[in-house]
Amino acid sequence: MEKVVIVRYAEIHLKGKNRGYFERALAANMEKSLKGIRHEIRRRSGRYLVENFEEAAADTIVKRLSKVFGVHSLSVGYKVPSDIDEIYAAAKLVCDDGGTFKVETHRADKKFYLNSPQISAQIGGRLLDGNKSLKVDVHEPDFVINIDVREDGTALIFNKFIKCADGMPVGTAGRGLLLLSGGIDSPVAGHMIAKRGMKIDCLHFHSYPYTNMQARQKVLDLAEILSQYTCGIKVTIISVKHIQEEIHKNCNGAYMVTLLRRFMMRIAERLALSDGDQCIITGESLGQVASQTIEGMTSSNSVVEKLPVLRPLCGFDKNEIIERSRDIGTYDISIRPYEDCCTVFLPDYPIIKPKLADVLAEESKLDVEGLIKEAFASIEVKEF
Ligand code: ATP
Ligand code: MG
Repeated sequence: MEKVVIVRYAEIHLKGKNRGYFERALAANMEKSLKGIRHEIRRRSGRYLVENFEEAAADTIVKRLSKVFGVHSLSVGYKVPSDIDEIYAAAKLVCDDGGTFKVETHRADKKFYLNSPQISAQIGGRLLDGNKSLKVDVHEPDFVINIDVREDGTALIFNKFIKCADGMPVGTAGRGLLLLSGGIDSPVAGHMIAKRGMKIDCLHFHSYPYTNMQARQKVLDLAEILSQYTCGIKVTIISVKHIQEEIHKNCNGAYMVTLLRRFMMRIAERLALSDGDQCIITGESLGQVASQTIEGMTSSNSVVEKLPVLRPLCGFDKNEIIERSRDIGTYDISIRPYEDCCTVFLPDYPIIKPKLADVLAEESKLDVEGLIKEAFASIEVKEF
């Protein structure tokens, strides 16, 4: 008897002729996520089976695979030779201590000497005989013992279905650059787009020493969480301190955030184009803060020349975003109390609905190209 993990995949079922491509991408991502754990992944009739691992590693395997986009559900179970006694021994192991249950058998091997209802009846009967706290309920059981008698002379026996990340395998829908702050929103935005199969790179702007090293570590910790879903992530870190200082020195302070945003977008587009990213992703949500009005977005969007800007959270309320950040495991990091660069030199009354002409007038007081060049000189890269 061998402990195995059964992997069911989601929407990739639907992808017709491209199915092989999606399956290979999923398998490669699963391999990456299981790096460092001895195992083998095999594909069998529309599912994957993880085998040949140490039993103690099962929980870690489940934890990691449950975050791989494209995986719909997992079950931990046993693989045994197709023999009714062996099947019973495994069924006993996966059976709950008490409660109502039923046995569901799927028999691909039509040569097996018992048919599906006979297998279910025999195993169910023996489980009942062996444990007086069990009762059969075929309509609304507390749990189901599943038995798959396969064509290769083995059977799989499992109980629970563990719900996983769903979505599409990362890497099957291009590549994008996520503007990652230390806040609640941008990690959620990145997660949402990665879920649709996009490989994500991250760009973070800091303003050290106005922002501190804990603020930087916070962003790296967020990127590491995201990397568990994206099978690795690259984070580029760039200083915008000199840009904020120049804006502060030369421009109307009410335009600080508006002008900074335009620099961020310009730098992001240039980095994206040189790294092969096909879009920019932000965590903006319409109307959430002063800079996220449609006028604010128009102002920052208008400096992006070639790439689309994806704002997956635009229609979300803050509490919906918070709920998602809790689900994906970034919330506790995001609420650590360290300041983002956007809070440096913050005016008391920022412009809420900036007119593009006024923004351009303020911006004309700056050496835009020179400041961008200086920003790129501060570049640092981290990989997870
Ligand atoms: P978040 O929770 O993601 O910080 P927010 O509600 O605080 O968002 P803003 O600070 O206005 O909103 O930022 C809007 C978006 O701009 C962020 O979601 C992020 O994509 C990008 N952004 C803001 N600050 C930074 C930064 N320091 N580095 C990289 N991107 C940033
Ligand atoms: Mg923020």
